[in-house]
Amino acid sequence: MKLVLLGPPGAGKGTQAAMLVAEFDIPQISTGDMLRAAVRDQSPMGIKAKEYMDAGGLVPDAVVVGIVCERLQQADCQGGFILDGFPRTVQQADALKQTLSDMNMQLDSVISLEVNTESLVERLIGRRTCGTCGKGFHLKFDPPGSDGRCSVCGGELVHRDDDQEATIRNRMDVYHQQTAPLEDYYRQDGLLQAINGMDEIVTVQQKIVSALQAG
Ligand code: AMP
Repeated sequence: MKLVLLGPPGAGKGTQAAMLVAEFDIPQISTGDMLRAAVRDQSPMGIKAKEYMDAGGLVPDAVVVGIVCERLQQADCQGGFILDGFPRTVQQADALKQTLSDMNMQLDSVISLEVNTESLVERLIGRRTCGTCGKGFHLKFDPPGSDGRCSVCGGELVHRDDDQEATIRNRMDVYHQQTAPLEDYYRQDGLLQAINGMDEIVTVQQKIVSALQAG
């Protein structure tokens, strides 16, 4: 299964990708996670990327395409993969098409998660992640324990720098301007399957799996 998860920030791409990893036994490739790791490592690429990420903008195509193409060459991607947060521009989508074609591969499906903007903002403002084990929480919808720490490992919860309201609004604008055109792009390729991302997490999951099985 070679899959792209498309959708605005907060639509649930990361959550759904993690569940699909278990369902299909294929890796999740999250450009956001890879970039955050580079920022943490303070690699030259991470230091540059941080400027764009903190402002809620997109990291330049050449950088992101480079890291994804390198990742796709690895052995665990040969049987399939879930791209989460990539592509985000038409240029990235073109580069992905070319890379896959060079590897004699093509996408099977592009799942577009649809959620209205105000719900997205509410989801992102309350989002917290355990800095130790990575478990996700939401202050309103899935709150941590009364001590405000991770209920699994007791780790400290992190509020992402780019999950502040002003940055979130900027990320939404960027999505509408630069990423939303990919819905038409993949519709024309006959790959787009739209799913209502407002439902419960498990319901969205079931709908995605059914859509993929229906082809
Ligand atoms: P995410 O975790 O997917 O919301 O990504 C966090 C941030 O990383 C984004 O707001 C961008 O600054 C950057 N980023 C992630 N994926 C991409 C991409 N495909 N192209 C450009 N920038 C990206």
